[in-house]
This record gives sequence, C-alpha cells and structure tokens, in this order.
Amino acid sequence: MNAGERRGRLVVGNWKMNGSRAANAALLAALRSAAPFPATVAVCVPAPYLGQVASALQGSAIAWGAQDCSSHESGAFTGEISAAMLAEFNCRYVVVGHSERRALHGEGDALVAEKAARALAAGMTPIVCVGETLAEREAGETASVVSRQLGAAIERLGDAIGEAVIAYEPVWAIGTGKTASPAEAEAVHARLRGQLAALSPRAAAVSILYGGSVKPDNAAALFGQSNIDGGLIGGASLNAEHFAAICKAAA
Ligand code: PEP
Repeated sequence: MNAGERRGRLVVGNWKMNGSRAANAALLAALRSAAPFPATVAVCVPAPYLGQVASALQGSAIAWGAQDCSSHESGAFTGEISAAMLAEFNCRYVVVGHSERRALHGEGDALVAEKAARALAAGMTPIVCVGETLAEREAGETASVVSRQLGAAIERLGDAIGEAVIAYEPVWAIGTGKTASPAEAEAVHARLRGQLAALSPRAAAVSILYGGSVKPDNAAALFGQSNIDGGLIGGASLNAEHFAAICKAAA
C-alpha cells in the first residue's frame, strides 16, 4: 500500500444477545442522528431483529449484519440460519468465529472458515474473528494461535479472503474491561497483515479490526495504530453516545 493510501475504516457494533424492539428503536434513532461518521459503521444484531433494523436504518449511512450464519446451504438444520436468509434482509456483514461461539458452541477453525465462505457466496462480507485466550497468551502462543485461525480462513477462501474483514479480539479482553494496549494490539495486527500479504496484495489490503473492551476513551489510541483499521465493539455498542464517540474516533 502506498503512503497516503488508506484501507477501509470500519466500526462494527456487536449487540450479542441484547435488545428489545423498544430499546432497539431508541438506540437506532440515536445512532442515525449521530451520523455522519468518518468511517463505515455497522451494527450486527440478533437475527430476529433484522427486519426492524433494516427498516430503521434504510436510507442511512449505517449498515447492518448478523452475528453468525450456518455453514450449510439449507436443509434439516433446526435452529440454524443460512447466509442466503440473512442476505434477504440486506445484511452487509456476518460475524463468524466470535470467541463466544468458539468457546460456548465448540466452533473450530474449519467450521468458521466454511461459514465465511457461505457468507461470501451469499454476497455478504464475513468478519472473521481470531484471538487468543489468556492461557494461550501467557504460554507465549498468541502468534501461533491467531496465525492458525487466520490460516484456516485463508486455506478455505484463497485470495477471496481479500473480500473479508478480520477482527483480532483477544479473548481475555472481551467484556472484561481489560484492553490490549495499542502496542500489543498493533503487534498482532502487523503479524496478521504479514500473513495476508504473503498471499497477495489484495489480501494484504483487508481491514483488520480490533475488539475487546473498546471504549470512547481508548478508541482513538487503538485506531491510531498503523495496522488497526477500526473496531468490533460489544458492550459499548449498546450505548448510542458511547458507540457514536467510538465511531468518530475512527477518523
Ligand atoms: C465483542 O463482543 O466482540 C467485544 C469486543 O465485546 P466488548 O467490546 O464488550 O469487549
């Protein structure tokens, strides 16, 4: 990438399993009125609210998406939601491989990569999450864990990884109030960038988001790192004022 050229800046809210029709309406109205933002902004919401969110955000600068999709195309998979179904709600993004799904639902690297492929095939952008646990960090395994996780997505998608977004989310920083320092996060992002660059210039140009207790007061320092292109925001995305401030820090 030439000096002066910029990768896409992106801030995505992950509502997790939070919300109600009334709370969503208030949050979305407040976000709409906080626009414009200096970055692309999206909210990834629980699937039952996609219709509500699509109507509320239609015509705004804010995109929306889902928090997961099935690795299957269609069929006898009770409770699952296919990528094609999400695309019918005009989702632009689908989070795949969030650490809560890896830890609580036993999702492994190959399954996550398959989900990313489904999202891409349905015309959406997968946000592929990678990140080490505290035990892995303390054992000095951060680099090998995130490289393995990203490697599985690269192996499945090939150069089409260039159409995805990567989110580095150290598990020990998610919802804990502990944040990786800007330098710690940048070191991992630079490593991921190097892995992508070894594949192709297109892959090297993907946006790599940081996630893990991003708040209005630490966002600018994180987003100011050269390989951090924005954020994946959990808890703070449920507060319109905080989320808008984080989005504005991605200038
Ligand atoms: C997340 O859920 O992806 C996340 C980063 O959560 P939090 O911002 O609450 O740590």
